[in-house]
Amino acid sequence: MDSIQQITRDRKTEKLYILSPDLRWAIATVREVRPDRGVRLDRTVAYPEGGGQEGDRGTIETTSGLRLAFDDTQRGPGRVLFMDGFSGVHVDVPIYHRVTPEDAHHLAVGDEVIVSIDMDRRAQLSLSHTAAHILYLGVKQVRPEAVNWVIGCHIREDQARFDLRVDERFMPDDLARMEEFATEFICADHTIKIRAHPDEPEALYWLCNDEVIPCGGTHVSRTGLVGRIRVQRKNIGKGKERLIATFGPSDTDRLDRGG
Ligand SMILES: [Zn+2]
Repeated sequence: MDSIQQITRDRKTEKLYILSPDLRWAIATVREVRPDRGVRLDRTVAYPEGGGQEGDRGTIETTSGLRLAFDDTQRGPGRVLFMDGFSGVHVDVPIYHRVTPEDAHHLAVGDEVIVSIDMDRRAQLSLSHTAAHILYLGVKQVRPEAVNWVIGCHIREDQARFDLRVDERFMPDDLARMEEFATEFICADHTIKIRAHPDEPEALYWLCNDEVIPCGGTHVSRTGLVGRIRVQRKNIGKGKERLIATFGPSDTDRLDRGG
């Protein structure tokens, strides 16, 4: 193995959540401690912010029993892909867990630790991420031209949203039809699968009812788990609209549809 490959291998963090999304904790080794970025481990269960999905939170526990909280997970630069659907995506990235500078002092390169994540929050983010895909498919059904102009996406625990460039604002009837599509898609309880590109194990596809979306985020295994989706719109500037999906079993009727 040449030296460049060696550096790449040593810098990246093994992403245990790809093959085992239900893994709550793992034993890992500290590879780097940076006051500005946080703690890089050789492997992690924590999802680093990406594809609009917020990074996981959790703890790093030392062999002496210290439990250090991290409030965010971020990826550093890696190898850039130039593949259809993944253009500009970084793979083989280092992953940093953000701890306070004070806590960082308790860790040293080579330390063995246990890294765990807040699994309730992850579960909620996985639901939200799945809701985002269903919303996207709903937009594709109702206003197909709009999906070509997605300019932003944010997936948080309680909602998922897309920002889009549009010639015409979304009308109440558009939103109602998106919700109708979502309800059908959810009630059909389609199975969700994740597949890797044969040449790139980190280039992942979300597969569901003949729909294929390149995506490296975390999702639930069936659409039925999402509950009910409500869609709101908001004008965020000239020719720009935001679509917000809230989801879950409870009533989300409290949200109005202004903007
Ligand atoms: Zn996804």
